[in-house]
Order: sequence, then C-alpha cells, then structure tokens
Amino acid sequence: MSYLPEGMPSPHPTLDDAPFWAACQERRLVIRHCDHCMKFFHPPLPTCPHCASGTLSWRPVSGRGSVYTYTIGHHAVHPALRGHPPYNVAIVLLDDADDVRLISNVVDATPQEMRIGLPVEVCFEPAGDGTLLPRFRKLNSSSTRAGAAA
Ligand code: ZN
Repeated sequence: MSYLPEGMPSPHPTLDDAPFWAACQERRLVIRHCDHCMKFFHPPLPTCPHCASGTLSWRPVSGRGSVYTYTIGHHAVHPALRGHPPYNVAIVLLDDADDVRLISNVVDATPQEMRIGLPVEVCFEPAGDGTLLPRFRKLNSSSTRAGAAA
C-alpha cells in the first residue's frame, strides 16, 4: 500500500544521492553533512553549498519534522494519478538537520488536516517498482516509539 498509485516514476539514483536512496531501502534517513562547517544540506552535492568543502559525511537523522508548507494536488500531473483522489505534496522541515527540507507527502493526513507546522515523522513506502521512498505520517505520541522500533 502506497500513498500514490503504482506507475508513478521511481528515483534514479546518481553518484551524489545513491547513499541517500540506499539508506531508505533499509528504512533509515541519512542527510549529507559538511564536516568542515558542520552544516547539513540537501539535496546531496559533491561539495558543501555553504563553504565548498569536500569533507562530507552521511549522518542519520531522527526522521521527525514539521510541515513547512504544502499544496493539495487535484490534477493528474502524471497519467498514474488519473482518477486518484486529491493528494498532498508537503515540504517537511527536519527537526535535527539545520534548515534541510524534504519534498514528500504526509500519507495519513486528509486535505483538511494538513497545516503548516503539523508535526510528522518519516515512514517508508514502496514505489511501483518496490523502491522504498521516504514519506511522512502525522506524529502521534502513541505510535511514535512503536513506529521507530518497528
Ligand atoms: Zn560546509
């Protein structure tokens, strides 16, 4: 079960972001970190966009964050979305990765529930080809620990 229907395009990892996608396949979220200026950045690049250093690492993050902004899609921008109900596209500001924001979806929020600042946590869902994608769900205190341990 996935938030968006099968047939949506899957990621095609590049040299720069392959470790990000590989971690997702293990249900882990890692973000590129500059070990010179000590800032996170995303999307992954060969050098730090803040200080141009090439001394970089991948750091695990909690996967918790909040909705920075969002939109509700009503149009089938891809043939696979034809007949699909309205869906959200969210920009999620991570809690523990400086100003890093990921473009994703909040899989369990109705359009009416979406709001800026909504607390969320990462979850991983298969694309049509089985590739796990990082998506988010509403942060629910009763499911947080169980979800993280699963
Ligand atoms: Zn840097």
